[in-house]
This record gives sequence, structure tokens and C-alpha cells, in this order.
Amino acid sequence: MGRSTPQLEFRWPAWFRALRPPVPLKIKPVREDGGLTAWCAEAAADLSLPELARKVRVSWNPRMQTTAGRAWWPDRSIELNPKLRECGPEELWRTLKHELAHLVAYERGRRRRYIEPHGLEWQTACADLGIAGEQPFHTLPFKRRRMKRNHAYICPNCFTTIHRVKPIQRSVACYDCCRKHNHGTYHDRFRLMKTSPADGDASTR
Ligand SMILES: [Zn+2]
Ligand SMILES: [Zn+2]
Repeated sequence: MGRSTPQLEFRWPAWFRALRPPVPLKIKPVREDGGLTAWCAEAAADLSLPELARKVRVSWNPRMQTTAGRAWWPDRSIELNPKLRECGPEELWRTLKHELAHLVAYERGRRRRYIEPHGLEWQTACADLGIAGEQPFHTLPFKRRRMKRNHAYICPNCFTTIHRVKPIQRSVACYDCCRKHNHGTYHDRFRLMKTSPADGDASTR
């Protein structure tokens, strides 16, 4: 019964209009990169890993925010952050090899129950792919978008909390409560109150 997710963000009654609603993200489909896929397939074939060579797929995922690349097992797929294309070829190749090394390590160790993600098998695979000494968590080449939602507001009636990147400049009331208790028009009783700063986006790779 918990109504933890505020429904406020995407329903904007007239009195809310002064604040621009966040633009909903256009979800572009994940796009496969034929050239990078072919390169990985060849590299896997060179390492005598035919199944990896056959199944590996590299794609660009526009939904990735702070992570440069990701490897999926047993899908044998690699996702890259499109922002890498703005960083120059060196970063792109290093990220691609870093992720492919994960798949190589898993492919080689598939009979084992558990492989340390950045353990010896991965380090060996990195060396085989020409990036010996690669660090598990290299710093991202692009600037992170700081989307710290520092400003938190709470409805004094239902205690729904909303977080905003920027402070709200004018009086805003809880939409749900105004709708339920005041026929959808603004009432001061449901005015959102500022609370202590919310925890920001703490995501790190
Ligand atoms: Zn990694
Ligand atoms: Zn409320």
C-alpha cells in the first residue's frame, strides 16, 4: 500500500506550470556496432574461443550514464556508452578491451563456479588483448553529469518526498493531496516544505 514514488513529477497542473517538467528521456533502441562486434569476434577467435567469437555482440547503449562499458555473461554482449565516441579512439578501445577481457575470462573459466570479476583470469585476458596492467575501475574519460538532487521537499499531509536538482522558487503543493482533498486546486495546507538535503547520486563504477 506504500505510496513511496511521488506521482508528481510527470503530472503538471496549471499552477505548477511555471516549473518546467523534466523532459522524458527518449529511449533509443540499443544499437549494435557491426565493426566492433567483428573486431571482438576476431580477437576471440585468435584466442581460440570459438563460441565467444560466434556470440559476442557489441552495442551502444544511450541509457548508460556514468559507466563507460559493461559486459554481460552468458549473453556474451558488451554495451558501450555513446559518450565514448566523443573521447577519442584510445579510450574507446581500452574500454572495449576491458569489457572483452571479462568475457574472455568467463569463457575460459566457464567450468568453474566463480570467477573474481577483476581477478587473475581477467588480468591475464587483459594482457592477451594488449592492455596489460589495466585497472579494474579506470576513471571515466567524460565528465559526469552532476545530477545531484540536492533539494528535497515533503508534503506535510501525506509525507511524499520529492527531490529536485534545483530549488523550487515558488510555492508548490502536493498534487496528490490537492487532487484528493481540494478538487485539484492549490491549497496552502499541502504546500511542500523543504527538508534536509537528500543523498545525491552516489553511483560509482
Ligand atoms: Zn571491469
Ligand atoms: Zn500530499
